[in-house]
Amino acid sequence: MPPEFTKISQGTVYDPAHGIDGQVRDLWIADGKIIAAPGDPKVKPNRVIDATGLVVMPGGIDMHCHIAGPKVNAARKLCPEDKPPLPRTATTRSGTLGSVPSTFATGYKYAALGYTTAFDAAVPPLFARHAHEEFADTPCLDKGFYVLMGNNHYVMRSIQQNEPQKLKAFIAWLLSSTKGFAPKLVNPGGVEMWKQHASGNVHGLDQVVDRFGVTPRQIIGQVSAAANELQLPHPVHIHCNNLGVPGNWQTTLETMKALKGRRGHLTHIQFHSYGGGEGDENTFNSKVVPLAEYVNAHENVTIDVGQVLFGATTSMTGDGPLGYLLSKIYGKKWFSADVEMEAGCGVTPIQYKNKSLVHALQWAIGLEWYLLVEDPWQVVMSTDHPNGGSFLAYPQIIRLLMDRTYRRDVLKSCPALVSQRSTLADLDREYTLSEIAIITRAGPARILGLANKGHLGPGADADITIYTPHENKQAMFEMPRVVIKSGRVIVEQGEIRDPQFGRTLHVAPEYDREVEPDIRAWFEKNYSIRWRNYPVDAGYLQEAEVVGSWG
Ligand SMILES: [Zn+2]
Repeated sequence: MPPEFTKISQGTVYDPAHGIDGQVRDLWIADGKIIAAPGDPKVKPNRVIDATGLVVMPGGIDMHCHIAGPKVNAARKLCPEDKPPLPRTATTRSGTLGSVPSTFATGYKYAALGYTTAFDAAVPPLFARHAHEEFADTPCLDKGFYVLMGNNHYVMRSIQQNEPQKLKAFIAWLLSSTKGFAPKLVNPGGVEMWKQHASGNVHGLDQVVDRFGVTPRQIIGQVSAAANELQLPHPVHIHCNNLGVPGNWQTTLETMKALKGRRGHLTHIQFHSYGGGEGDENTFNSKVVPLAEYVNAHENVTIDVGQVLFGATTSMTGDGPLGYLLSKIYGKKWFSADVEMEAGCGVTPIQYKNKSLVHALQWAIGLEWYLLVEDPWQVVMSTDHPNGGSFLAYPQIIRLLMDRTYRRDVLKSCPALVSQRSTLADLDREYTLSEIAIITRAGPARILGLANKGHLGPGADADITIYTPHENKQAMFEMPRVVIKSGRVIVEQGEIRDPQFGRTLHVAPEYDREVEPDIRAWFEKNYSIRWRNYPVDAGYLQEAEVVGSWG
């Protein structure tokens, strides 16, 4: 059978990976991929989508959100009051919305915003199977997850025993066994201290983790070195120590330095950019300027923001002590769990208020990050969904970045001190559509090492979003005209047409098999399940794609 051709005709195309900045172009699609325009004029498309006067971009990519796994489910159960129903339609299943939507609703809502790929940021390896099961119920998206390993006993023991080859093999084995995408460090060393002691944590990069004799600095340095040596597409994704604590900016700066020039990604950096004395609201202030200066001078470091939006949401984190801290601040419900030798977590409902100086500063600090990082390829849009706010707020963030009058109007509703303790009031920069395309699709694709995503050149996955231009950028990005996933129209004008299931993206790095007996001996001695039941079999994944190595 000859291939079916789709042509998107005469759209105003934004494809920053190829330097295309608002030029009128045709795009051709066959077999779910973008292809070069057929040279033969006799080849006619089977379907034409007229994009005259419309804006065409690659599908959006969320590189840091929480949409699958046990703590997401715990959050769904913890807050039944935050669950407006999503009724079924002829093409979609029913579900629930709120700050933590149900699986099907999550897929539909991302797609309706023009997003076609999303990565869950924190899955304990022991619950990888659960995360894959939820992915199998999350339509419209290609997806993957990062594997928690910053407090893994085997990781810390390999570092303590100075066995970098063993560490490297273990990381590769763990990613392969879980069908995960990248190593994730969450408060490295701190979660283990939380598990050992009442209110335990680490408070700096050089504090020693009890019983393992290693420091956060060693964990960051050695895991990032191993991950870079493995040439993983996304080497290491770091949630720094001391999240949310005034004065934590120095820990964040030290974490960047601990990478020693290796590729590394610091996530939800807004929560890690605070000046002021510990626990002291009177001195709380922004330290984005010195941190952004470091990022601007070091292209190995990339960040996503973790923007805070005003309103109610749910905090969920692999950072056990942080969950406890937040539950004390808000005095609401709290869920905490530890995962054997691997990880921990905390879940609690929270609320950001524009009249609170701290919350308004958090909002301003997030925006400073977007506006102070000079190279948009180093900064990615995120709310750390749902921690800073829902992914549904992305169009609002776009408006805040593209429209400084609107930004200043919102700033005026915040306490006046925000303008003294941050630089936001002085920042005139407005993002262009091309820069928005970078921080929401082209940039995350590059940082994740996804060669087939985030661009519109031949060979790219035909994941495409078509927007109707509008002066109000929030309105423009809230309701794409057409969303195409793998060459098929899945959304038209906000309505789900064809909720196809996407693929699970994972890595399968080579490793030294001789290390397996050592892992196995440790495993059988300590885990509650048997070694042979731990790895997730390839057949368990609905539809999968192995993403190859970097470079
Ligand atoms: Zn997160």
